[in-house]
Amino acid sequence: MANLSLKHIYKVYPNGTKAVNDFNMQIEDKEFIVFVGPSGCGKSTTLRMIAGLEEISAGELKIGDVVVNGLEPKDRDIAMVFQNYALYPHMTIYDNIAFGLQMRKMPKEEIDKRVREAAEVLGITDYLKKKPKEMSGGQRQRVALGRAIVREPKVMLLDEPLSNLDAKLRTQMRSEIVKLHKKLQTTFIYVTHDQVEAMTMGTRIVVMKDGFIKQTDTPKNLYKYPANKFVAGFIGTPQMNFFEGTLLKIQDKIRIDFANTDASLTVPYSALTKIIPQYFDGKRKVTIGFRSEDISLDPVKVKNCDTVLKVKISHTEELGTETLVYGDINMEGDGFADNGTRVIIKSGGFKEYQFGQTIDAAFDVNAIHLFDSDTEESILPRVPEYNYLNCKVSGRKLLTLGGEFDLPAAISCDDGDYQLLLPVGALTDGESSATVMSCEKVSNKYLLLLKTKGQRLFALSDNAQKEGQINFGIDFKQISIVKEGKEVVSPLPLENSLDATFVMEKVAEQGNSKRKKNAYSFVVEGKKFACPEEVSAKMFAAFSGRKVFNTEFSCEFSPYDLLVEEEGMTATVLDVLDFGREKFAKCMLNGKVVYVCTDKMLCGEIKLLPNLNKVSVIEKERQIRII
Ligand code: ADP
Repeated sequence: MANLSLKHIYKVYPNGTKAVNDFNMQIEDKEFIVFVGPSGCGKSTTLRMIAGLEEISAGELKIGDVVVNGLEPKDRDIAMVFQNYALYPHMTIYDNIAFGLQMRKMPKEEIDKRVREAAEVLGITDYLKKKPKEMSGGQRQRVALGRAIVREPKVMLLDEPLSNLDAKLRTQMRSEIVKLHKKLQTTFIYVTHDQVEAMTMGTRIVVMKDGFIKQTDTPKNLYKYPANKFVAGFIGTPQMNFFEGTLLKIQDKIRIDFANTDASLTVPYSALTKIIPQYFDGKRKVTIGFRSEDISLDPVKVKNCDTVLKVKISHTEELGTETLVYGDINMEGDGFADNGTRVIIKSGGFKEYQFGQTIDAAFDVNAIHLFDSDTEESILPRVPEYNYLNCKVSGRKLLTLGGEFDLPAAISCDDGDYQLLLPVGALTDGESSATVMSCEKVSNKYLLLLKTKGQRLFALSDNAQKEGQINFGIDFKQISIVKEGKEVVSPLPLENSLDATFVMEKVAEQGNSKRKKNAYSFVVEGKKFACPEEVSAKMFAAFSGRKVFNTEFSCEFSPYDLLVEEEGMTATVLDVLDFGREKFAKCMLNGKVVYVCTDKMLCGEIKLLPNLNKVSVIEKERQIRII
């Protein structure tokens, strides 16, 4: 039993292939995690790095509290089950399962106990005396599982263990493995390219593509809230219907125009408030997504629905419990080719449709998905990044959300009308009041929908809030004020990036000047600072040999982690930005602008001490995050 922590894990093969990029994940004890994605996306490489079969190019891997980057596979307390289970043909099933334990010289009685227990769990007790050739594929895969179970590992790793089995057996083994996970109460990590396997087995799923994580979430959330078109299309059968189109805001309504047809849907703006307003210009191309079950041909639903489109039916696929109806929202389309207007609709039971017939279909806009056509990222995310508000600046006051806020001295902006980008995380305590309309738990935060003076506002909170009144204020250092697409006021940068190298020197041990020991430091912008032991351990974990000493890094510090002290890097104060509750000194350091949190009105030359306990380190050449 163990939790795992994967921080900024990379794999770069010697031929330069970046198979895994910046893989970050916390896996809790007893979770069933599935890595899923098309062939070549990096899922096996990630699993093999966890197993210790593949060296980690950069990043930190912890099993429990131990950094295991440098540990041999046998010392990691993991067991792995592969697609090719390679049993020893000349040995009995008993010996096949016991083999690993015998090699470890475990006492015979203990081996016997473990083998029999595992056989019992897997339902193969009657086969223990038989040879592998006398067993079916499914039974052999159980033996392979048995070999892993008897090791009583902290983590079970399974790499496509079912892909050699036929469809029926695969379904059966799927539920057996889920049952096994429940019984063993061990952390499982399972690799598959099959989204159905992922959805039915995982407590959480990591969807990967081209070496990157595209999204990590529970099966339900991946299905309901895909963060990008790739995940939307990968999860669910039949695949989500995608259409190209544009969005146009007309007063308090949004018109969704579908490309290559004159079809359009008009929905209230309140259904799409999470979208960035720039998409409402009727020009920017968006991809519209509807799952086949969110479109209905049921006449009652159609009658009660405001968002109805005509569909020309081309053919159907009868699946028994449901019928897939194929059609086109372009009356000239043929419904066979996936040409951007074809639509697949899930309809219950056996239904008779006339091919070529035009029929009304109700589109459930509460279940709509929208993506940027170029980036393919969702523009209707579960947690929006910003609130897009209109505002007015007048006499050092910001007028927005039906109220007045005093502008802090740090913000200078001419009077006039603007757009305000207020991040959902930029609401703090304050004197304005709002009503909590809803509170939704998203990972470890709460997304609040607030209403203030008739306007809706999203806010991210660490705590759950009951419906009712709350008070709020604005954290002005996070806001942007925009005029005609140009940022007039920008948010305060929260990262300062400085050049650094990592060095070693011999120093005398305390109390014994004759004995020397190694001491490690970072030279940041030409000044040397002792490196905390935990940080140097991470640096060594990411590099083998002396390479760590010959590499250029960027060290990133937040404005709270550059401390004004007696000694340190010399910087010149250019300005002090007063945000009311907090002040930040804008300084020049070796030709770079850095921001430092301070409670004083600093001026002239100051010394900055970086807090290396909070550093983020990036290897410059490969653009790899080490810490
Ligand atoms: P998946 O398990 O998702 O199918 P892999 O993790 O096996 O993908 O591979 C990820 C990428 O790394 C692929 O592009 C693959 O070609 C490449 N790759 C895998 N092993 C090696 C290797 N030993 N040397 C070079 N490239 C490799």
